[in-house]
Amino acid sequence: MTDYDAILFDNDGVLVEPPTDENLLAAAESAFRAVGVDDPDTTHVDEIIRGVTPDSLYDVCSAYDVDPQEFWHVRDTHASEAQLAEFREGRRTQYDDVAAIEDLAHDLGIVSSNQHRTIEFILDFHEFGDLFDTYYGRGMGVEDLHRKKPEPHFLERALDDLGAESALFVGDSQSDVEAAHRAGLDSAFIRRSHCADATLSTEPDYEVEDLYDVVEIAR
Ligand SMILES: [Mg+2]
Repeated sequence: MTDYDAILFDNDGVLVEPPTDENLLAAAESAFRAVGVDDPDTTHVDEIIRGVTPDSLYDVCSAYDVDPQEFWHVRDTHASEAQLAEFREGRRTQYDDVAAIEDLAHDLGIVSSNQHRTIEFILDFHEFGDLFDTYYGRGMGVEDLHRKKPEPHFLERALDDLGAESALFVGDSQSDVEAAHRAGLDSAFIRRSHCADATLSTEPDYEVEDLYDVVEIAR
């Protein structure tokens, strides 16, 4: 029996399908072109797609003599616009089991490493924004690269907003499990098809198949 004050969710891969690699690759290439780099090294393109750190960003930018702040803003704008197009065109959508969490009486929140503007679009587009009492994505400045998961920064802010002392954080990646534990929260790893073979170096408190399982844990 558990008694959480709040249930927090990662967004991509938990509430909605994750962005496709092809879409993020095209967005990264167009970001390079937008700052005058027409033929970037493929390893540099890969480095700015997922898991970007301030160090890797500065390394990539120094190879082309582009300003990291400016490039990051361009990269994030292109990545966000490409994702908005995926949703508008129906190539990406929410998971059906989001309906399950409508039954939870807890305060609910979202903590995502996606851009805050992308999260706002999704909440509005899929009309499930009313379910959540608070939500955080990442700002588009380099400073928020220091604050994204596995850093507990945005989880702590969400807990503060909700006045919650105990919470369960539901995520689909290593950084989610780690961020939960750093914030002193329990973690639930949701093993959907895109992460069926994922191995975690941090043991989650729960492993679940879908959001119906999360509701069972939370009740
Ligand atoms: Mg995720």
